[in-house]
Amino acid sequence: MTEKADLQSVLDRAADGGRITPEEALDLYRSAPLHALGAAADAVRRRRYADTVDIATYIIERNINYTNVCVTACKFCAFYAAPKDTAKGWTRDLDDILRRCAETIELGGTQIMFQGGHHPDFGVEYYEEHFSAIKKAYPELVIHSLGASEIEHMARISGVSAEDAIRRIHAAGLDSFAGAGAELLPARPRKAIAPLKESGERWLEIMEIAHGLGVESTSTMLMGTGETNAERIEHLRMIRDVQDRTGGFRAFIPYTYQPENNHLKGRTQATLFEYLRMIAIARIFLDNVAHIQGSWLTTGKEVGQLSLHYGADDLGSIMLEENVVSSAGAKHRSNRLEIIDLIRKAGRVPAQRATTYEHLVVHDDPANDPVDERVVSHVSSTAFDGETAARSASGKGGGGRREGGTAHPELKLLASN
Ligand code: SF4
Repeated sequence: MTEKADLQSVLDRAADGGRITPEEALDLYRSAPLHALGAAADAVRRRRYADTVDIATYIIERNINYTNVCVTACKFCAFYAAPKDTAKGWTRDLDDILRRCAETIELGGTQIMFQGGHHPDFGVEYYEEHFSAIKKAYPELVIHSLGASEIEHMARISGVSAEDAIRRIHAAGLDSFAGAGAELLPARPRKAIAPLKESGERWLEIMEIAHGLGVESTSTMLMGTGETNAERIEHLRMIRDVQDRTGGFRAFIPYTYQPENNHLKGRTQATLFEYLRMIAIARIFLDNVAHIQGSWLTTGKEVGQLSLHYGADDLGSIMLEENVVSSAGAKHRSNRLEIIDLIRKAGRVPAQRATTYEHLVVHDDPANDPVDERVVSHVSSTAFDGETAARSASGKGGGGRREGGTAHPELKLLASN
């Protein structure tokens, strides 16, 4: 264990731009004073973004869940239905998916996250068909979706290599990988929570193949299912080593396990302090990853706001629709003006970003803040009333059915005017 004075010298070295070892990262994560850790991480952020140091970003996107049918049965997941559970399982048709894309564009969204279970019938062909249809109808919509687990699954179903699967869905329209399925990369915690998923090494191998083909990604981490601090740092080390070779991870996004409606219910959750420590240590340790995202969806808006002082430069998305972590108990909702306000009250200038992190709109004057009240995060919602959806469908190049989507009963959705 590093002495207290030595911890500060490691923090000072990191704040000055030096690389720290995994052993030093573990010592800092366990023992450095929280504020000192945050101050060092913020110094790293300030150096990296010297030209835009006052800015913190967000994106408008929609998670489109195409099916909940899944053969992988992860123990932390409250979203999936086993293939034999026909009463619970569902699959959205292409018209429904296209309508959700149309609504995303109508609300100023720039990205969709196509997210679903490992359906036993969905090989590469399914994704080719859907991505090419989405791109044909909405070429401006960025498809930032899937991850190595889906690639491993679809390649197996279609009897092709992971590389072929990536080439084909990239050609069909996939722009970048969202990095889902990383969970915990070290073997022990991964086997404990996702025994049927590919290994962490394989997850990284597929991401490395993708980066080599020019398909960049983000990287994620699920905290709080019983992993040790050492395993959390090992997860970061595994990502950093690949990033040294590829440079293809645009961002690192830790989020916390939600304990409802899944087999792990009652197990340890990461505390909010542990989460902030992870944001800070990630900013310090991942010196080769450009962006660190704070997650307000699983930790709450105030903690998301605090993360901007612990090294995060991005607050993720206003999810026009989210169903996966919400199924496991994540109850936080927000809207565009609230996210803008959170960022501003953290002393930063809000900016809407693109998937590739360019600033699309910098909100440097509150008098010009956007006022569309429909830009709100929803659970399983249509986001639009039928009349607006129909307008969108006819005026924006299609979109399909007017009906569809099931509003969460506890959520106040749009007034139907
Ligand atoms: S996390 Fe994904 S792969 Fe795992 S059970 Fe849920 S839907 Fe399936």
